[in-house]
Amino acid sequence: MDSGWLVLLSVAFGLLVGAGFMALLHAAERRGSNAVDVVNPAVPDGVEQVINALDSAGVVLDPSNNVVTASPGSIAFGLVAQQTLVHPELIALVDKVRSSGEPVTTTVELARGPFGDASIHFLVRVARLGSRYILLLAEDHSETYRLEDVRRDFIANISHELKTPIGAISLLSEALDPAADDPEQVRRFAKRLHTEAARLTRITQEIIELSRLQAADTLRSAELLNVDHLIASAMDQNHVQAELRGTTLVKGGAKHVEVYGDESLLVMAIHNLVGNAIQYSLENSRVGIGVRVEDGVVEIAVTDQGLGIASDDLDRVFERFFRVDQARSRNTGGTGLGLSIVKHIVENHGGDVRVWSQLGRGSTFTIRLPEATPVASASQGDSR
Ligand code: ADP
Repeated sequence: MDSGWLVLLSVAFGLLVGAGFMALLHAAERRGSNAVDVVNPAVPDGVEQVINALDSAGVVLDPSNNVVTASPGSIAFGLVAQQTLVHPELIALVDKVRSSGEPVTTTVELARGPFGDASIHFLVRVARLGSRYILLLAEDHSETYRLEDVRRDFIANISHELKTPIGAISLLSEALDPAADDPEQVRRFAKRLHTEAARLTRITQEIIELSRLQAADTLRSAELLNVDHLIASAMDQNHVQAELRGTTLVKGGAKHVEVYGDESLLVMAIHNLVGNAIQYSLENSRVGIGVRVEDGVVEIAVTDQGLGIASDDLDRVFERFFRVDQARSRNTGGTGLGLSIVKHIVENHGGDVRVWSQLGRGSTFTIRLPEATPVASASQGDSR
C-alpha cells in the first residue's frame, strides 16, 4: 500500500469517528431536553379546556403561586386578579396542600369585593395536579347557607311565638287553684285560658299549613274554579268578624271569571286578606273586593281605608312572623303568618301577590292568577 492510500484511509477514519461523536452528542442533547420536560411538565392536556368550561371557580397555580389558568367564574367571583389569588385564606390552603401533598376540602367565607360586608360561602377543594401544579376548585354555597339561616330563624321564631301562649296557659292554670272559691276570678281566668288556647291552636294550624304549602305539589287536586264563588266563600268566613267590627264588605268588578287551582287554598288566601283588611281598619269602615282580568291575568284586589303600612315595612309584610306592630297584632290574635301563607298559596298557583299602601290612607293587596282560558275539547276538531 503506497503512502497516498494511507493518508486517504486515515482521513476517512477521522471523519467516521467525528460523525459518530457528533451523533452521540446530538442524542445526549435530546435526552437532556426530555429530562427538562419531565422536571418542568406543561399543565396536563385537557385541563385548560375543563377549567374554561366550569361554571364555578377553577384555578391552576404554578410553584410560585402564579395563576397559570383560571375559569371565567374565578375572575367573576373576584378570586383571581392579575394572575394571583386575591384572598390570603386561599393562598394558605394552596401552600398547605403543596407542602403536605394531601388534598383538602373545606368551606371558606370570603369577602364579595374590596368594599362592604357582603361575603360568599365557598366549598373549596385543593389538590396537586401532576408534580408541579396545584388545582383549586371553589363552588358558591351561599344559597345553602342562606336557607339554613332562614330555617334557623324560623325555628327560633316558632319557639318564641309558642312560648308566649304556653307560658300564659301555665300561669293561668296555676292561678285557678287558689281562686277556686271566687267564681268571678275563675270565670275571668277561664276566659283568658280560652283565648290563649285559641291562639296556640291558630299558630300551630298556620305552621302546619305553611309547611304543607312549602312541600311542593300542593296542586295535585287543581280544578276549574269560579272566582265569584271563591270570593263569596271567603266573605262568608269573614262574616262574623266583619259584623263584630261593623265593617261593610263590598264585592265588585268582573264576573264569571275562572282560574285553575285548589278551592280551599284560594279561599284561604282571599279570606286572610279580607281578615287583615277588617282587622287593620277602624270600626265601621268599608272593605272592597274587586275582580279584573287583563291579558290573561286575573286580579283579585282587597282594598281597605285602614291604618296603612309604612313604605319601609312594605317589603317585609310577606315574611313569616313579621308584624308591623308586634304588641297590637299579638293582642288582636295575629300570628304574623297570614300574609306569608297568602304568598305561598298564590305562588303555588303560578301567580303573585302585590301590595300598595300608604300610612293613614289604607292598603290594597292584589292576588294575580293566570286566567283559565277555555280549551276546545279534544273531541272537537278531532276527525278520527
Ligand atoms: P298577622 O297575623 O299579624 O295579621 P299577617 O302576615 O297577616 O300577620 O300580616 C303581617 C303584618 O302586616 C300585620 O301584623 C300587620 O302589621 C300588617 N298588615 C297586614 N295587612 C294589613 C292591612 N290590610 N293594613 C295594614 N296593615 C296590614
